[in-house]
Amino acid sequence: MTKEAQSEKQTFQAEVQQLLDIVIHSLYTDKEIFIRELVSNAADALEKLHHLQLKKSDIFEADKELEIKISLDEETGTITIADTGLGMSREELIENLGTIAHSGSKKFLQSLSESGQKESNLIGQFGVGFYSSFMVSDDVEVFSRSWKNDGESLCWKSDGKTGYTIEQVEDQDRGTRIVIHLREDQKDFSKKATVQKVLETYSNFVPFPIQLDGERINKVEALWRKNKSEISDEEYKEFYHFTAGAFDEPRYRMHFSADAPIEINALLFTPSENQELWGMGQMEPGVSLYCKNVLIDDKPKGLLPDWLRFLKGVIDSSDLPLNISRESMQDSALIQKLNRVVTRRFLKFLGKEAKSSPDSYIEFYKKFNRFLKEGVASDPDHQEGLAELLRFQSSMTENGELTSFEQYLDRAKDDQKQIYYLIADDRKAIEAGPYLEAFKSRGIEVIYFLEPIDDYVVSRLAKYKDKDLISADRADIELDDSELEEKGERLGDEALESLCKFITEELGEQVEKVEASDRLIDSPAATFDPGDQMSAQMRRMMQALNPDEPAPPVKVNLQINPRHELIHQLSKAQESNPGLAKLVAAQVLDTSLLASGLLDDRTSLINRGFDLMKSALAEKK
Ligand code: ADP
Ligand code: MG
Repeated sequence: MTKEAQSEKQTFQAEVQQLLDIVIHSLYTDKEIFIRELVSNAADALEKLHHLQLKKSDIFEADKELEIKISLDEETGTITIADTGLGMSREELIENLGTIAHSGSKKFLQSLSESGQKESNLIGQFGVGFYSSFMVSDDVEVFSRSWKNDGESLCWKSDGKTGYTIEQVEDQDRGTRIVIHLREDQKDFSKKATVQKVLETYSNFVPFPIQLDGERINKVEALWRKNKSEISDEEYKEFYHFTAGAFDEPRYRMHFSADAPIEINALLFTPSENQELWGMGQMEPGVSLYCKNVLIDDKPKGLLPDWLRFLKGVIDSSDLPLNISRESMQDSALIQKLNRVVTRRFLKFLGKEAKSSPDSYIEFYKKFNRFLKEGVASDPDHQEGLAELLRFQSSMTENGELTSFEQYLDRAKDDQKQIYYLIADDRKAIEAGPYLEAFKSRGIEVIYFLEPIDDYVVSRLAKYKDKDLISADRADIELDDSELEEKGERLGDEALESLCKFITEELGEQVEKVEASDRLIDSPAATFDPGDQMSAQMRRMMQALNPDEPAPPVKVNLQINPRHELIHQLSKAQESNPGLAKLVAAQVLDTSLLASGLLDDRTSLINRGFDLMKSALAEKK
C-alpha cells in the first residue's frame, strides 16, 4: 500500500453512520458524558496494558508510567485526552472505531428502532461510547501507537459524518491521544473548571492517575477494591465522609468482595444518626453504583431495596456494562442479582453484630428500627431475615430492655405453638389491662409492641419461623389450665348461664357473645376480639384519617370472670334488684371497652358512673 492509499477516505459501517447522525443531531443535554466515556476507555486501555505487562516482556516503552493526561486549550477550543495504555494498530482502529464495536451502541440502535422514543432520551440511557465525542465536535483526531514493538504511529481522523482517514504520522508515545476540536457552542469543555467538575463527578476513583493540565485530579482511592488489611480505620472514616457527604462516625462498616454469583466489591456504611428522625423527609438511596471504579449512577433506584436507603457507600461490579440505562436499571437481571446478594449479606452482617455486640446493636436499632420494620412490611423476600433483627419489650423484660423472637422462643415451653403479643401506646397500658393476666399466671411471655407502625408490621409478618403471631386479646385462644392456681369460688353453671343470657339481652347489639371465661384472673370482665375485628390502634388511625365518617362499629365478645366477687354480686342482683343489675351490666361493658381502647363515646359511661355512685351511697344510708 502506498502512503496515499493509506490516507484515503474510508466510509463508516452503515450502522455507525446512522448512530453518528443521531449523536450529532441529538438535542441531548448532558453532553458532558463524553468525558466519562473517553476516560473510561483510557482506563480500560491502561488496565489491559497492565495485564500485558504481567505476561510479556517485549512491550514498547515498557517503563512508561500508566496514566491519563488531559489538557485544555481555550484559545483553540480543544480538549485532549491521552493515555499510555495499549494503543491501537491500524486494523484495531478500523475495527474499533469504524464499526459498531461495543454492545452499548448496538443496544442503543436497537431500542431506538423498537421504542420510537426520542433519541436524546436514549443516548443518556445507553451512552454511545467513543462516538459521544461527536456530540461536542465535528473534528476528532485519534493518535495511537500500539504496545507492539513493531507498531506504527497513526492518526485516525473524522468529521463524524461520512467516514474517516487513517494516516501514518511522526513518532508517537505509546497509547492513545484523542484531540477533540470543540464546536463553537461547546467551547465550555476547554475550560478547566467545567472539566474538573465532570472528572470529579465520574472519575474520582479511576485507579490510574488523571492529570488535568498538570494537576492531579483523582486523589481519593477506590478503597473498595483494596485489601481490607491495607486500610486503616482512619482511611475508612475519611472515605465515608467523602462518599456520604457526612460528618458523623459511621456505626457499621461492611467491606466485602465476591466472585460468584456475580463479581462484587462493596464498601457499605451505616451512619450513626438517622436523618429521617430529624424530620428531614425521606432519604435518597445512598449507595453509588460503579463499574470498575467508574461511576454509573450515584443514586441508583432499585440497586438496593427502598428500606435500605440509610446505607451509604459503593457497590462496584465489573460484570455491569458501563452504559447500563438508569431507566432500565430496575429491570436488569444483573442489578436484581446485586440487590439480592448485597441485601442478604448485609442482613447476615447485622445479625452477627447483634450477637457479638448487643449493646451497640440496640443503639443502632433504636435509631434505625423504622427501616427494618418497613422492610418486614414491604419486602417479602427478606422478611424472615429482617424479623430476626427485630427487638421489643415483653412481659419478661425489665422496663426498657429489649428482646428478640429468638430469645422469646428460647424461653417458651416446647409445646407453645403460638407467639403472643399485645399492642398499645406504652408498657403501663398493657400491664394495667385485662389481657396480660391469663398469660402471666401461666408463665407465658407476651411481646409488647409499642410503636404506631408495629400494628401494621405484625399483621404483615403474621408468623415467625413456624409459629403464628397472635394478639393476646383474641377470644379464641386456648390456654392450658392444668397448672393454674384458682382464685375464689366459681359461680355455678346454672347461675352463669342465666347471667350471660341476662347481660346479652341487656347489651344487645354491641356484643357478639357473652361468656364465662377462665382466662380472667383479677379482672371481673374484659372484651375480646372474636377474630375479625380491627385493633384499637387501627380503628383510631382510621378515625383520624376520616374524621367525618362515623366510627367503624365495634363487635366484641364480653367474657366474665366466674370467680370474681363483682360477678357473684351481679348474679344475685339479677333477681333482687334487676334495675341496678342492668346498670352494672352496661357499665361493665363500657368499662371493658374503655380498658381496651375501643370506647368511642364516654358520655354514658360517665353518667352511669354517677348514677351508680348515687345508688351505692343510698344503700348505705
Ligand atoms: P466500549 O468501550 O464499550 O468497548 P467504545 O465505543 O467506548 O466502546 O470504544 C470502542 C473500542 O475502541 C473499545 O472497545 C476499544 O477497543 C477501543 N478504544 C477506545 N478508546 C481506546 C483507547 N483510549 N485506547 C485503546 N483502545 C481504545
Ligand atoms: Mg467505552
